[in-house]
Amino acid sequence: MVDGSPAVGSLFTIPVLCAVLSGLAWFFLALSFYRGDFAISKQSSIAYDQEQTEARISGLSWNENTTLVNFENFKELRTLGSIWLTALVLPPSADCTVLGLKDKIILPANQYHPAMAKEENMQSKCRSRYEQHCFWQASDYKPSPEFLDVLREYEKYHRDCVQGHDLLDLNDRGSVPKNTSCKYVIWSDMDGNGNQLISLVSAFLYGLMTGRVLLMTPKAQLQYMLCEPFPFSSWLAPEGIPHASERYETPEERHSVFYEQALQNKSDGKPIVTPKHLVVMNSHWIQPDDLRFFCQGEQKLLDQIPWLYFWSNNYIAPGYYFLPNFRTKLNKWFPDRALFLHAGRYLLSPRDEIWERVLRFYYAYLDFADRRVGIQVRSWDGNYDPVISEHIMSCGWRWGLLPKLADTKSEEFRDDSGGERISVVVTSLRREYAEGIVEVFANNGTVGHETVTVLNPSSEGYQMFGQIDHDRKAISEIWLLSFTEQIISTPKSTFGYVAHGLAGRKPFVFNKFGGGEVPDPPCLESNMPGPCFINHPHNMLCPLDGPSDGIGDSFTVLPEVRHCLLQWGIGVVER
Ligand code: GDP
Repeated sequence: MVDGSPAVGSLFTIPVLCAVLSGLAWFFLALSFYRGDFAISKQSSIAYDQEQTEARISGLSWNENTTLVNFENFKELRTLGSIWLTALVLPPSADCTVLGLKDKIILPANQYHPAMAKEENMQSKCRSRYEQHCFWQASDYKPSPEFLDVLREYEKYHRDCVQGHDLLDLNDRGSVPKNTSCKYVIWSDMDGNGNQLISLVSAFLYGLMTGRVLLMTPKAQLQYMLCEPFPFSSWLAPEGIPHASERYETPEERHSVFYEQALQNKSDGKPIVTPKHLVVMNSHWIQPDDLRFFCQGEQKLLDQIPWLYFWSNNYIAPGYYFLPNFRTKLNKWFPDRALFLHAGRYLLSPRDEIWERVLRFYYAYLDFADRRVGIQVRSWDGNYDPVISEHIMSCGWRWGLLPKLADTKSEEFRDDSGGERISVVVTSLRREYAEGIVEVFANNGTVGHETVTVLNPSSEGYQMFGQIDHDRKAISEIWLLSFTEQIISTPKSTFGYVAHGLAGRKPFVFNKFGGGEVPDPPCLESNMPGPCFINHPHNMLCPLDGPSDGIGDSFTVLPEVRHCLLQWGIGVVER
């Protein structure tokens, strides 16, 4: 969704027009200074040091109150012309040159958030909301006008259904505000950050399609990681509203139990009574009856329930295509089928503490590079496996992601400068995977005189739960990965899903990861950039719809949905 700079020169050929435009430009530029849009200066020059990566970051100087522009830090002063034009016709925040990024402008028509939200949102400090779009490299994704309309309608609906209402009391009574059509879906967290982000996006898409307000359980740590997305309102459910896991303890509030009861009532000729609260649980350990969520009859019944609890660790959105009316909407809103990318880029904006960490690393290690490669090595057991180090190199070499080594025996020592500068971000709980790459390129020259810079933003050793600093690191690394052009990722890792899903990049996925040997091929390019839906519906009946109705072979039944290469599950193939 990033566009190239407009051709400025031709617009400035008439001197009078030029003078008028310049005057206006200065006015808007001055206004922008006043608003603080350019309160960014960039300094970065940090050497790689495995031991003290974080300690040695000097990075950006952010100042909440200053309106200083550091023009010295702009790479190309000639872009000042485009800044004038930008100030004239666009919200200044859409000009990526302000962030030191070359010739990138995000046109208003391609912005997910309304410009006014920056000033008016209750939480105005959320730089990533506007700035992150400048850093995603894929430029051919643009939100459709239909999706933007839906977002604006949703924002109003959210505000109307949340502001001025006692949600705790309404929830207690299983009721909704009088004379409204408000309905709610409360997202509850399950498992790690990657799982949470993919299920949150799934819940949001569900809310958009079914006219439900998305709320976040007050117990979710993610509230401290992400900015509030909806202007003039909040997505945080009030304290006292239970987590889905608490509701789930009551069998009558489980959706699978409800479906079964509804079917029984139907066959007995009795009316189906819908509850006021229901937990929709779609996790990796899903049961066959849970999957009836993807049936039309069940969705019609869920539609009548005012308070749904959405509890999942899964990216269930590919399954929405099995529901004809959902499918129609998705195809209208996402003609390119990049639903995770668009919904995620709108919904997920890391808070300033995380964003600043991302930027410091980006400017120090990635900004100068000719090419950026992200490598995500998931270590579920927290152990280091030397075979995986070989696997990484083999994959990188096979597809030209990492430079080939020179035969140094036959050559004198060469100064490997002047070739392509490649920055490699290695995210893993174990630092040895980054160290392995450093060792290879420290001990060998490269055929094309490329230089390789390796960043390992953290190495936490093992997955932790409920630790804010740990989670902040994880989120910042997901975003850093998403800013690279080429991604190698671990199959079945939701951490990786979010990174390449936001990036809009088909990742190179390790083949037989952790299998004790380096297979041939070591990795393959995936058939889709978005996340996969693990434990999805497949060849199942929808008995409420009719005795023989159901979902057939989910790998082939629809053109939008396919099996994810080298992964479990199904994903959405993009156009
Ligand atoms: P999955 O298990 O890969 O599907 O992803 P999860 O979201 O369940 O787990 C990811 C969590 O593990 C993160 O939130 C971190 O707590 C931790 N983690 C895993 N890999 C990394 C990594 O490369 N960097 C950091 N900082 N944390 C990681």
